[in-house]
Amino acid sequence: MAKYGMVIDISRCNGCYNCFLACRDEYCGNDYPPYSLSQPFTGHFWMRIIERERGQYPEVKVAYTPVLCMQCKDAPCIEASLNGAVYQRPDGIVIIDPEKAVGQKQIVTACPYRVIYWNEEKNIPQKCIFCAHLLDKGWKEPRCVELCPAGALTFGDLEDPNSKVSQLIASNKVEILRPEYGLKEKVCYISLPKRFIAGTVVFGAKDECAENVDVTLIGDGVKKTIKTDNYGDFEFEGLQAEKEYSVRIEHPGYAPKEFTVQTKIDVYLGEIILT
Ligand code: SF4
Ligand code: SF4
Repeated sequence: MAKYGMVIDISRCNGCYNCFLACRDEYCGNDYPPYSLSQPFTGHFWMRIIERERGQYPEVKVAYTPVLCMQCKDAPCIEASLNGAVYQRPDGIVIIDPEKAVGQKQIVTACPYRVIYWNEEKNIPQKCIFCAHLLDKGWKEPRCVELCPAGALTFGDLEDPNSKVSQLIASNKVEILRPEYGLKEKVCYISLPKRFIAGTVVFGAKDECAENVDVTLIGDGVKKTIKTDNYGDFEFEGLQAEKEYSVRIEHPGYAPKEFTVQTKIDVYLGEIILT
């Protein structure tokens, strides 16, 4: 028996919303009993894209993080339901039974990821079901995965060591969105947004971009040297939040510069003029 899971690579997601639209196309106006009833046309985000602006002008980026039901092995939504209204299938997919769950609003607040939505008209809680109705018909992947043009979503059998999803997990690059919940989630992520430190180096005397300058980052057990690019820019990405780093800039013939940086937020050090 397969055990389904998903890996979401944030570095590939460009916020096109195709996954969100695919989900709406599949479920809005369509009932699939006993898997789910139709999703309302407004107010539900079974696949939600969290957009977060990072950095300060001119070094600004947007991180898009798709969030859906994590299909937790230890699911508090199951615990909170009465009469077995939420259950886990042998393939690991967590289903809210649309008949048994009528009136059970407490199921919505049981999920710490806030991915269960209340359907006012039908008086039921609803969420992503990994498109179980399609998988049972022989589909290899859910609609959102099929429609992602960037290849950011990978779906498959976690029990099959040759599946792409298992290989991504074996690469040790994956993380759980909120590991502190400890729910044995079956959706995990690559390149979750962390913190960056960036800057632009200029040769003061010549007033030109300082290309090929050594920039060394030290802190949090890391020591790493990179070179500025042809615009004089440098960036250290994927740093832990709430840490202290030192950034040292050195080039023959110029006085070195050193900064102490706290990663409470993403940091752009601005123009650094070497003299
Ligand atoms: S993410 Fe929320 S809704 Fe999905 S299984 Fe976990 S607790 Fe339940
Ligand atoms: S797996 Fe299916 S139900 Fe879940 S977000 Fe994707 S399209 Fe929607």
